[in-house]
Amino acid sequence: MPVKPSPLEIYMHLPKKNCGECEFPTCMAFAAAIMEHKTELGDCPHLSEADRLEIEGILAAPVARLTFGTKRPLTIGEARVMHRHQLKFYNPTAVTVEVTDVQTDVEVESTIRRALETKVEMLGETYGVDSISVASVSRSKESFARTVRQVVETSDLPIILNSWEPEVLEAGLDACGDERPLIFAATRDSLESYMELAKRYRAPLTVADQDVGELRLMAREAEGGGVDVALYPVSGSLAEALRKNIAIRRAAIENRIRELGHPIVVLPRSLIGRQLERKELWWREALIASALIFRYADALILENTGVETLLPMITLRQSIFSDPKVPAEVRPGLHRIGSPGKDSPVLLTVNYALTFFLVSGDVGKAGMDCHLLVTDTEGMSVLNALVGGQLQPRSVVELIKQAGLDSEVSHRTLIIPGLAARLRGELEELSGWEIVVGPNESRDIPSFLKELPEKSRR
Ligand code: SF4
Repeated sequence: MPVKPSPLEIYMHLPKKNCGECEFPTCMAFAAAIMEHKTELGDCPHLSEADRLEIEGILAAPVARLTFGTKRPLTIGEARVMHRHQLKFYNPTAVTVEVTDVQTDVEVESTIRRALETKVEMLGETYGVDSISVASVSRSKESFARTVRQVVETSDLPIILNSWEPEVLEAGLDACGDERPLIFAATRDSLESYMELAKRYRAPLTVADQDVGELRLMAREAEGGGVDVALYPVSGSLAEALRKNIAIRRAAIENRIRELGHPIVVLPRSLIGRQLERKELWWREALIASALIFRYADALILENTGVETLLPMITLRQSIFSDPKVPAEVRPGLHRIGSPGKDSPVLLTVNYALTFFLVSGDVGKAGMDCHLLVTDTEGMSVLNALVGGQLQPRSVVELIKQAGLDSEVSHRTLIIPGLAARLRGELEELSGWEIVVGPNESRDIPSFLKELPEKSRR
């Protein structure tokens, strides 16, 4: 049975003054807004400390949050729902690239540099690699410590220490200094010694086992010892890993089994057969990692660090972790691409972020300076806004006036999206501007602009 707190549970702990000082007319409305994460408890000045703690307990995410790293701390976990449409997903899956202690200094340095340089710009935000995992392959304390030291000295990203042997792990923890890395991973046999190290170095600990029941017992033990916990459900195939991730997350969120309410860490590479040829590995790892992002992996440790592996999963992750209730919007008004002057073309687009960034990117590719008139369609794409009535000739005419376009350009030609061609007649009539119908697809804008007759450009 799903266990989800109701606004009434929160209301019971509110002062019930209905004073409106929180900017909500009643305490019940405030309780509903708290549930939706639209306001903060601190906005009620009359709430007692005891009631605040009670409400925080009710609102606590069923999956605990876990933070590691000190220079650039990284938080994972804190899931509240099984499905994105129920609220939203918090703390995007951490993308971690791996270096090993059998790599040369040059190889390690090159992986770290690539990790630091990997940047994906989408919808006005920049994403990249979140952390670096150091794996002990040599099983030598000295080699592991040396590689960890190199990573600490050359990167500010948080670190995951990947070793199955306590003495090797301890050498790595020593080399980490105050970095507070995530330890990966304790087995049933090593749990006691790993817990001792986790406590001594104040580092969170991943517990690993094939059996979810055993994982639960290990997590309980580690938690009881005061250690922050992550789970690694060891699997032999992608299907098995997905099954376990779903079972763990369902147990935590729907059945409130607290010991399984911890972030899940997965190594996609371990789910691929070793006999595959190297050239097949990167795309299989990317595919497996992407499937795991869909199904509750909170951190992925990746062997392939090329942009071809990272780009698709970082892009997918952004889509999954965006708030489904908030359309991705940009500021309406007049935007400049390059350094447009009075003779530069003016194109009309909508304020749906994806459309805006596609159109502005394609206009940029044309190598021409342009004005981009962005109309407020409440974050709708062109077709949706036409159907929903957010894209209307009258609102475009209003925007032309508000943006002062008459004084920005010396011509009176507006290029509208091909999909909005049906607005042409009314728009011409209401605005007095010449309306040119542009291409349907944003990718055709560069060739359209290049072929635009000189007189229509102005
Ligand atoms: S400020 Fe507090 S007491 Fe007043 S209405 Fe809001 S929640 Fe109720």
